[in-house]
Amino acid sequence: MCGKCSLMNPKTAEWVSKKVGSDVDRLGTSGLVVLCDFDGTITSFDTAEFILRRFAEGDWEQYDRMLDEGKISLEECMVRQFELVHVPEGLIIDELEKVATIRPNFPDLVHFCHSYGAPFFIVSAGLDFVINHYLDKMELRPLIKMHSGTSYFDGQKIRFSFPHLVNLEAKSFKDDLVKTYQRQGRKVVYIGDGLSDLIAAKQADIRFAVSGMRLERTLREEGFAFESFIDFADVEQKMKSLLNCS
Ligand SMILES: [Mg+2]
Repeated sequence: MCGKCSLMNPKTAEWVSKKVGSDVDRLGTSGLVVLCDFDGTITSFDTAEFILRRFAEGDWEQYDRMLDEGKISLEECMVRQFELVHVPEGLIIDELEKVATIRPNFPDLVHFCHSYGAPFFIVSAGLDFVINHYLDKMELRPLIKMHSGTSYFDGQKIRFSFPHLVNLEAKSFKDDLVKTYQRQGRKVVYIGDGLSDLIAAKQADIRFAVSGMRLERTLREEGFAFESFIDFADVEQKMKSLLNCS
């Protein structure tokens, strides 16, 4: 950890309380853990939705509606939707390569977190082989931990399984990981864009939401403090301010 970094300086406390909404009293000298959504957050748009629109055979959108209505879990939604996709991994990657881009300065943020000693997780309900493809392209795999489903094409369809929940009260594997680290005394930074991030973001100590997207709107409507961003350089800058690094 950088010797100059402190979570307790007045500048940090002011920024956290005004901008990001953490309970300042909870900030201690323990380390941060950074959890970051993939689709629409690290990527410029939702690759999972793109794949479903391009390849799913059947009414995949009914499961989104059921998820919104609270009838099924996030994990069940993804399992049911990708059972409608009957193409192999390579074809999916080839199609995404034509359209998907990574939000600016993501690698710099990962390297900053690594240098600071803050574990960086991707928490995603998307396809892990897609995420790993992009992490390999950016040579970031050694610096990032994955907390996502495991997916593969079995010759007929995309099969999906998700991590088992550790905390009984957790709603999905995303907020489950937030709770797990908080119970270890860590402070959790959550970065996301969509409704599937909402519970985890609300639970987290420090929140970043992609500007103009659903997570930002909902956090604002519900009165939660957060920081908006478009470019990961903005996140890095705010985190440096938080940690008093220059
Ligand atoms: Mg997302």
